[in-house]
Amino acid sequence: MIFFFNSMRTIDEQGYHFDEWLTPKEIAKDVQQVAKQISADYADKEPLFVVVLNGAFVFAADLLRALENVRCEVTFIRVSSYWGMSSTGQLEFIVPLQQVVDNRDVVIVEDIVDTGLTIHQLKAHLRGLGATSVRVASMLFKPNKLEYEDAKPDYVGHEITDEFVIGYGLDFDGFVRNLDAIYKVKE
Ligand code: 5GP
Repeated sequence: MIFFFNSMRTIDEQGYHFDEWLTPKEIAKDVQQVAKQISADYADKEPLFVVVLNGAFVFAADLLRALENVRCEVTFIRVSSYWGMSSTGQLEFIVPLQQVVDNRDVVIVEDIVDTGLTIHQLKAHLRGLGATSVRVASMLFKPNKLEYEDAKPDYVGHEITDEFVIGYGLDFDGFVRNLDAIYKVKE
């Protein structure tokens, strides 16, 4: 359920309170900034975007449509390493890669990089399959939580400290991915 207090939106979900942190307008600005950088870097390439389901589908839809003069392909992969509010430390390939990545410049599109385990393992997977280059675009990045240096995203919408966030593709046990803003859990 969404409540409005002094124009700031709040959410109650499964007994936790969340405050709006990034508005749709702020998100759009971040997406434009990331799209601009990628457009400049990949103008003369034909990258393959690998969108990490489920969380990155909203960011990917906005980001890919904001690119300028980038001829590209898009494919999807589904992995799981998180339940509730904490990481399990295990990466499971639920929907494996359907596309040949051999000799391709790959850009992984992720919703959030936390410990970096997901990206660390995905990068190794894609390099093992023969990708020429593998970069990462993530809507959010928690630098304080990063445990794998090679998982630091190349393109970041917004940095965040350690808080748990929901909305704009990010879920809470499968729900609230469809929120148009990003909400931070209230301590
Ligand atoms: P990592 O492998 O970097 O530790 O975790 C990455 C994945 O964990 C993300 O793709 C996302 O699904 C999940 N995750 C990490 N932090 C958060 C968070 O604050 N909120 C939500 N909803 N998911 C998160």
